[in-house]
Amino acid sequence: MTRTDWTRGEISDLFELPFGELMLRAAKVHRAHHAPGEVQLCTLLSIKTGGCPEDCGYCSQSATANSGLKAEKLMDVDAVLAAAAEAKAAGSQRFCMGAAWREPKDRDMGAVCAMVAGVKAMGLETCMTLGILTGDQARELKAAGLDYYNHNIDTSPEHYGDIITTRTFQERLDTLAEVRGAGMAVCCGGIVGMGETRSDRIGFLHALATLPRHPESVPINALVPIRGTVLGNLLADTPLARIDDIEFVRTVAVARIAMPRSMVRLSAGRESMSEAAQALCFLAGANSIFTGDKLLTTANAGEGQDAALLAKLGMVPMQAEEPMRKSSPDRGGGSGTLTEGALSAAWAPSTTPLRVAVPLPVPGRNE
Ligand code: SF4
Repeated sequence: MTRTDWTRGEISDLFELPFGELMLRAAKVHRAHHAPGEVQLCTLLSIKTGGCPEDCGYCSQSATANSGLKAEKLMDVDAVLAAAAEAKAAGSQRFCMGAAWREPKDRDMGAVCAMVAGVKAMGLETCMTLGILTGDQARELKAAGLDYYNHNIDTSPEHYGDIITTRTFQERLDTLAEVRGAGMAVCCGGIVGMGETRSDRIGFLHALATLPRHPESVPINALVPIRGTVLGNLLADTPLARIDDIEFVRTVAVARIAMPRSMVRLSAGRESMSEAAQALCFLAGANSIFTGDKLLTTANAGEGQDAALLAKLGMVPMQAEEPMRKSSPDRGGGSGTLTEGALSAAWAPSTTPLRVAVPLPVPGRNE
């Protein structure tokens, strides 16, 4: 049963379960709602990098960060479509486009909508993350063919003010409401390992699991501490630089149980996890990953590595439709399936790895 009335105590009790018991429960919930051997492949492209006026403490794209990342202009529509075609050929079913903005300007909406329409016309699912949206902008994006909008709550309401000061938790919820109101699916998650307590991780998942409707996609990032960012300067080279693997897997398992029909996506930080830790995450109910070498500006496990790991685990690219999208009255029409050609391409050793248009080898924003 999908519930949106979870109490913090119930989420806390799940976190406190013996690890084996928690894994067993999460795996059962996963099997009841998803094909357990399947994993969704997504590709993420930074369409506008750096120079963001927000001050998210984890992000190298913030203008306040001293990370050496150069601000760039919005990419040309044709360049974005070329990257999307490459992603499709490599087996991705969803193409996510991210811009380092506080909010999109009206003058950018034409180009952004053209990107959405072009990617959609290729038969890919479309996702964007552009910052705060007005209702009109949300409707414009929906009309252009946008299936998903990503807007993370990042952390618990209590911890939020320690991480970001330039926009409020409530503003995030307001944008999510506009996205829902326009009839788009929601991608919303956050980052763990930002110096938060377990109580914050409980509050983070509680906030997601008590939204009026669970997000269709829940990205769970592990912080990649980047020198020059507030959190990178605080945490890099300390014992807190990396969240404990077992605590990360617990977080994934609790997300799976609390939001049974959502896709739980391993995002930033995956490249530094061992294969065993990733395998535990899949067992705990994670069923979506980003493929390619980069996540916006952070390093990511490459396709070849992913193919080898998933083959080792006997997992295949997702073929079933997402449970929440299948039943959604306002679904955008993406097929959610891979063609046979794309399937074999997805697992063939990659000679042309996907790249996002971010040349700097520095890690950056967590998706
Ligand atoms: S996370 Fe997004 S909103 Fe925050 S500084 Fe980075 S690009 Fe800007």
